[in-house]
Amino acid sequence: MSIKVCKFGGTSLADAGQFRKVRAIVAGDSDRRYIVPSAPGLRSSADRKITDLLYLCHAHARQAIPFKEVFELIAQRYRGIVTELGLSLDIDTSLQEIERRIAAGASADYAASRGEYLSGLILAEFLGYEFVDAAEVVHFNARGLLDLQRSREALNQRQAQTPRAVIPGFYGRTPSGQVKTFSRGGSDITGAVVAYGVGANVYENWTDVSGILMADPRIVPNPRVIDTLTYRELRELAYMGATVLHDEAIFPVRAAGIPVNIRNTNRPADPGTTIVSEAQPVAHLGSITGIAGRKNFTVIAIEKALMNQELGFGRRLLSVLEVNGVSFEHMPSGIDTMSLVIDDAQLNSKLDKILEEIRHECRPDSLEVYPNMALIATVGRGMAHTPGMAAKLFRGLAEQKINVRMIDQGSSEINIIIGVENADFENAIRAIYKTFVG
Ligand code: ADP
Ligand code: ASP
Ligand code: MG
Repeated sequence: MSIKVCKFGGTSLADAGQFRKVRAIVAGDSDRRYIVPSAPGLRSSADRKITDLLYLCHAHARQAIPFKEVFELIAQRYRGIVTELGLSLDIDTSLQEIERRIAAGASADYAASRGEYLSGLILAEFLGYEFVDAAEVVHFNARGLLDLQRSREALNQRQAQTPRAVIPGFYGRTPSGQVKTFSRGGSDITGAVVAYGVGANVYENWTDVSGILMADPRIVPNPRVIDTLTYRELRELAYMGATVLHDEAIFPVRAAGIPVNIRNTNRPADPGTTIVSEAQPVAHLGSITGIAGRKNFTVIAIEKALMNQELGFGRRLLSVLEVNGVSFEHMPSGIDTMSLVIDDAQLNSKLDKILEEIRHECRPDSLEVYPNMALIATVGRGMAHTPGMAAKLFRGLAEQKINVRMIDQGSSEINIIIGVENADFENAIRAIYKTFVG
C-alpha cells in the first residue's frame, strides 16, 4: 500500500473554487490518504489571511477592544465556502465557540490555530474523509519543541483505525493540553510530521507555484523551476528566504528519507520539484541550483592586531552575545579581524549594550558597525569545488556595479554567501541569476 501525505497551503484553500481543485487532486490518486490543510489565504493581493485576522482578534480581545467586526470577516469567509460547496456542515456552532473562547482570554496560539481547524472541518466533510484534530496527534514537549517521536506514535495508532483523514496544519498540543502552534508557515511542518508518522512514500506539498524556483519570483521574472534538489540544498535556500517550504519542515522527512514533491494546485499536471537525499551532480559545470536571500542584518566588525595569538578572544566575543541572548548568523574572520553577522530581529535594541561589552571584554583596536545589510546565498552542488564558480559570481555582480561588502564561503561546500547593502539586494539577486542562468 502506497501512502501520500498532501499538504495544501493557504492560497490552495482560499475560496470554494480552490477547495474544488483540491478535491479533484485528492480524487485523482487513491494513495492521497492524509490531507493537511492550511487556513484560507489570500484571494488577491488586497485580501487578508484568516490567520492574520485571528491574531488581530486575539490582540483586540487582550486589550478589551471589541473584535466582533474582525471576527465577522472570518465567519463570513468560512460560511461562504460552506454554502458555495453545498455542505450541510454546522460551521456556526464552531465559530460561536471560537469567538466565545477568544473573548474569554484564550491564548494567541489557540486563536491562530482555529484557521486550520475550521479549514480541516470543511475539507474533511467535502472529501468524505475523517477529521482528526491535530491536537490529538501532533505533540510538543514541555519546552515547547516538537516531540517527533510522541507524534509518530500517536499518528501510528490513529492510522490503524483511520485509513484516510484530514489533519489540520500549524498546531498541536503541549503535555499540559494547551494548543500550541508552530511558527508562521508551520503547516508545512505538520505535513512533514504526518508523513513521517504514517510512513508515507511521498510528502506532496501543494502551493501556488510549480515548484521551487531558482529565485524568488517577486524579484526575478519567470525564474526556472528546480526539478530536483537535495534536502541540504533546500535547507540552505529555505533558511535564506526561499519561503516556499518552511525550513524546519525538512527534518522529519529527511530522517526517514521520504521524498518531498512541491506541486501547484492551480496547475496540477506540472511535475513540480522533487526533494531527495542525494541527487546527481548538476549536469554542466558552472551551473547552480538556486539563489535566495534575506534583508536586515547588522555586521559588527572587530579588528585587533595579533588577535590570532590572543587565547580566548573568540570565546570572550561570543560570550557577550550569549549573555545578551543573541545568536549570530555568520562569523567570517581573518587573521586580525572577526565579524559578527546578526539578524536585526535578534538584535532588537541591544546593539549599544553589546558594543559596550565587546569593548570591555575584548579591547579591540577598532569596532565598526554596518547596519542595513542583506545576505544572499548562491547554492549548488559542488559550488566550492568547481573552479571558477566564485570568480563568475563576483564578475556578474561587478558588471552590475554591485558592491560586495562581505564574502562568506564558510565550510559549506554547496553555498557561497555574500553581504550587500539592503538597497542592492534585488539587483544583486537579478545579477547572479543573469550570470548563471541567463
Ligand atoms: P503556501 O500558502 O502554499 O504555504 P507560501 O506563500 O508559503 O505558500 O509559499 C509559496 C510562495 O513562496 C510563492 O507564491 C512565492 O511567492 C514564494 N517564493 C519565494 N521564493 C521562492 C522560490 N525560490 N521558489 C518558489 N516560490 C518562492
Ligand atoms: N496559517 C498559518 C500561517 O499563515 C500556517 C500556514 O499557512 O502554514 O502562518
Ligand atoms: Mg507556506
